[in-house]
Amino acid sequence: MAARILDGVAVAQQIRSEMAARAAEFTRRAGRRAALQIVLVGDKADSQIYVNSKMKSAADEGMKATLSHLPASATLGEILRLVETLNADPEVDGILVQAPLPQSFGSTAIQQVFDSIDPAKDVDGVTPLNVGRLVQNRAALVACTPAGIVELLERSQIDIAGKHAVVIGRSDIVGKPVSLLLLHHHATITVCHSRTKDLASVAASADILVPALGRPGFVRRAFVKPGATVIDVGINLVTDRNVAYGLFHENHPRRGLFDRKGSVLVGDVHPEVEEVAGAMTRVPGGVGPLTIAMLMANTIKAAESRAKST
Ligand code: NAD
Repeated sequence: MAARILDGVAVAQQIRSEMAARAAEFTRRAGRRAALQIVLVGDKADSQIYVNSKMKSAADEGMKATLSHLPASATLGEILRLVETLNADPEVDGILVQAPLPQSFGSTAIQQVFDSIDPAKDVDGVTPLNVGRLVQNRAALVACTPAGIVELLERSQIDIAGKHAVVIGRSDIVGKPVSLLLLHHHATITVCHSRTKDLASVAASADILVPALGRPGFVRRAFVKPGATVIDVGINLVTDRNVAYGLFHENHPRRGLFDRKGSVLVGDVHPEVEEVAGAMTRVPGGVGPLTIAMLMANTIKAAESRAKST
């Protein structure tokens, strides 16, 4: 039987309209709009697309969104000074530094920047304090994609407690925090990664499978227990015809899309999994929209709790 498709767009829309109501209430009480400040360094095309949709969503929900765009030639010191200024600005509620920084900054600079953000304004849940609080199950601001995954499961009436959840990927931004959140929702969790042995059979023991590895169509039918819930986190732009044709059969509309555009956006889960899973998300239209909705939720949460504490 074909899987029930979990509609990330609809759930995200629901959350965003709830946030719009809270944003309006905040504006009424505080006499100003809740404010999100995004810092973008360099001109990476997909980062610019992500930033634009975050800015647009904040504006649509009645928040103030401002962009600080620094050139790729900016120094780490300049970024840290900018974050310091935003930390001190009483009218900034949320600070998001768009990752990754340009390659010239090296691999450790982004963590230094994250470390410098005021945890009360850390709407991406990346500071050590907020990550530590997540470990202790008393987080206020949690990384947006993991929070969105749990929100999608809950709002789709998929039970988490007592289930075996298998997460594929152990990144700081997705794999680890989603594993912790599922644990706090009383799942038994297994975290897999590139060195996991016999990955397919570990995955096939999951009631809830969360692939977050960044490999187009990696998760095949054999990875999925019949009836399991599969939440596809991957976002991969496929430009290779062989890969696209391996994912979508001849009459599939997404193959037609690839033929017209020369590229297609796909997840980590092969479309054939829809024939085995009980419920699953698609890419696009699954987890992606939830990430932005949870950023809005974190921004309004940060604004409300900062207003309370001043
Ligand atoms: P990452 O590259 O930081 O981490 C990938 C993880 O997958 C690593 O822990 C690695 O061990 C594991 N991995 C890689 N190859 C593997 C293999 N063959 N077998 C088992 N494990 C393997 O990536 P990330 O930042 O966590 O992102 C993962 C994917 O999720 C990407 O496609 C990214 O674009 C997407 N993503 C989506 C959203 C969203 O809003 N939907 C947000 C963030 C990331």
